Amino acid sequence: MSKNRRMISVLGSTGSVGLNTLDVISRHGDSLAVFGLAANSSVDIMLEQCRVHQPRFAVMVQEAAAQELRQRLPDGSVTEVLQGAAGLNKIAADDEVDAVMAAIVGSAGLPSTLAAANAGKVLLLANKESLVMGGHLLMQAVREHGATLLPIDSEHNAIFQCMPVDTNGTPLHAGVSKVLLTASGGPFRTWTSQQMAEATPDQACAHPNWSMGRKISVDSASLMNKGLEFIEACWIFDLRPQQIEVVVHPQSIVHSMVQYVDGSVLAQLGNPDMRTPIAYGLGWPDRLESGVEPLDLVALGRLDFESPDEGRFPCLRLAREAVATGGTAMAVCNAANEVAVEAFLQKTICFTDIPRLIEQTLEQVSIVEPTTLSVVEQADREARQHTTQLISDGASPTMSRGRG
Ligand code: NDP
Ligand code: MG
Repeated sequence: MSKNRRMISVLGSTGSVGLNTLDVISRHGDSLAVFGLAANSSVDIMLEQCRVHQPRFAVMVQEAAAQELRQRLPDGSVTEVLQGAAGLNKIAADDEVDAVMAAIVGSAGLPSTLAAANAGKVLLLANKESLVMGGHLLMQAVREHGATLLPIDSEHNAIFQCMPVDTNGTPLHAGVSKVLLTASGGPFRTWTSQQMAEATPDQACAHPNWSMGRKISVDSASLMNKGLEFIEACWIFDLRPQQIEVVVHPQSIVHSMVQYVDGSVLAQLGNPDMRTPIAYGLGWPDRLESGVEPLDLVALGRLDFESPDEGRFPCLRLAREAVATGGTAMAVCNAANEVAVEAFLQKTICFTDIPRLIEQTLEQVSIVEPTTLSVVEQADREARQHTTQLISDGASPTMSRGRG
């Protein structure tokens, strides 16, 4: 492989962000190469990705999946198969790696994201849950080890593009008064609470503008995605909660805005396609062609903005309260949400049970200072157990009905 090519590891390569990342990388074979790919258990997709991208390492977290991949790779393959957390850490932190796309879904992404930061890598951060859980630890690791954090979440990428930053990508606050975090409002933007109580997983996952994995799609429908992004923005841009305003923008064309003290508002616009923020991260500080259709504002005709309704969408309020509480409250909020979303996807609970379960978990689990990774992981485990118990006790009035 050419020495001049930047070596990229993609954690969560078989998911929605992972596939989009490999799409952008494949457009720039002269300057970018894949060092490592990682997934949980999707062997078929990983096998095909190994054939196309010829990575040095392919990591499967599940042992049986790693064994199967080893057996199915052709003789003489350049790819070595690794397994489990050690494999993730290896491809996140290896000396030969330049940039790491952190695109595992959920809290499972935290240790490998942290490993990339501790190794001083360019960290392309899609896995927002790792910042929500361990924001203090992750930002400290970035600072202490000279890592460069480039946000891939489209809103944070937009803010990053509109905010002054230093040569290492550290945001500077010069003249910034406020951030306007846009939200599509999701598929239930105009639904009543009663309609939402009857919503099916497929309805929740039918996002009007974005094509994404199922967990984040449910988060978008409940607005917990915006709650998590609110927390994410506080950490990445070192903002006070009062400096962030959530604005519902149903077309998902303005990806977020930064307001300055002189009254200027800078916005980043584009079609809702993750390849734009991914290409921005892979190319930074240069720009790369991404394959995204150019924006046609005339065809679009109009851009609308409205306030979020925290009455119908309590998750936004819960995330805001978790920030105000501080400590491990954000990790607890995230863990309760992950368990509740999975239960909703399994049709064990109703859509409107999700915020109820998060609120009860936040009220009942003790909150401590998130001093180390193990403290954060312990808070995550406790919250998961608690929410799981609430579900099996049928703690919410609608829960016992189950879902058809
Ligand atoms: P997907 O569900 O599409 O993909 C998840 C990826 O993570 C898959 O590669 C999956 O592997 C892997 N994975 C799941 N569990 C584990 C585990 N325990 N250990 C290691 N790998 C695991 O998710 P998305 O791509 O939609 O989202 C990824 C992250 O990016 C999330 O944090 C999300 O919030 C964030 N994000 C996503 C956006 C999007 O447009 N999709 C936009 C902004 C942020 P396998 O296939 O084997 O299960
Ligand atoms: Mg987003």
